[in-house]
Amino acid sequence: MARAYNFSAGPAMLPEAVLQQARDEILDWHGSGMSIMEMSHRGKQFMSVYEQAEASLRRLMNIPENYKILFLQGGASSQFAMIPMNLLRGKSTAAYINTGAWSKKAIAEAKRYTSVHIAATTEDSKFTATPDAGDIDLPGDAAYLHYTPNETIGGVEFLYVPETGDIPLVADMSSTILSRPIDVSKYGLIYAGAQKNIGPAGLTVVIVRDDLIGQTMDMTPAMFDYKIHADNGSMYNTPPTYSLYLAGLVFAWLEQLGGLTAMAEINERKSGKLYAAIDDSDFYSNPVEVNSRSWMNVPFTLANADLDSVFLEQATAAGLVTLKGHRSVGGMRASIYNAMPEAGVDALIAFMAEFEKNNA
Ligand SMILES: *Cc1c(COP(=O)(O)O)cnc(C)c1O
Repeated sequence: MARAYNFSAGPAMLPEAVLQQARDEILDWHGSGMSIMEMSHRGKQFMSVYEQAEASLRRLMNIPENYKILFLQGGASSQFAMIPMNLLRGKSTAAYINTGAWSKKAIAEAKRYTSVHIAATTEDSKFTATPDAGDIDLPGDAAYLHYTPNETIGGVEFLYVPETGDIPLVADMSSTILSRPIDVSKYGLIYAGAQKNIGPAGLTVVIVRDDLIGQTMDMTPAMFDYKIHADNGSMYNTPPTYSLYLAGLVFAWLEQLGGLTAMAEINERKSGKLYAAIDDSDFYSNPVEVNSRSWMNVPFTLANADLDSVFLEQATAAGLVTLKGHRSVGGMRASIYNAMPEAGVDALIAFMAEFEKNNA
């Protein structure tokens, strides 16, 4: 069967070259007579895989020496609790920007541990925009400012980095990490579940400035303490070895492609042409303000919602799958992460034009 263009928001497509390499190595990794899945995580062979993955990510994102890279489990959702547990550092307030569904989940979890100051919210616009930089109200005693650079469900992305002075900036980059170069030194902590732009589910990447760890709240479980993971090189317990191996292959694929500058060019072009196709038609629309549109998740609606199911059916038959919008939003959503080939976006645009011609 031919591979589909899979527009799933996550778990999402992986680069075909990575899957082929994983297939070739699945029974016998580099003459070891074993699959990566069967190896000790502390053995020399797996350690080399681990170290290469870490070094590759450090090069790709240009991560400074004073930042730890942690490979954890529990998804981005566990970070919603780990962040206040580790970064409150005796303070009693944390600031959060609310730009939609994932911000709200982070805020709800933080409220179990601290008082939360909402530094900005775009709820009035039904979360179709990012706040203006000048509207972010950050109290001086906040332990950190948390935001969601890309809201995966709403398709809303910050095209700027909030200024926080000395207050650590914390970013849930689950659906935008590795989509373009960023200046890591502007952040105190960056985290991402792997299943969108890094690799398979089961792995969570945390990049944290080293002076922020080690002041964990009392009663924090060992597994939730960044310092313990950092001191043990992410091997306090068994890491998700196979997910880590695949993430390493994805990092190598990105480096070969020319790194994040090259990836950003492709992503800007892919999303740009999809938005142009939507904007040029009266049949499709996207509600997000132009200066807040996501490069990664493009929600759109049909002029007549009665046609949604026919659209999805015919798209699937054409090899364009998982385009159904999130249940909270309806309509369609095309997630076009790094691994979505440009040809997949072209095929979607051609399909949309044909569908409009036949149904408008
Ligand atoms: C997918 C996603 C999450 C949740 O990730 P899990 O790994 O399933 O916990 C959190 N935040 C954002 C922005 C996401 O896209």
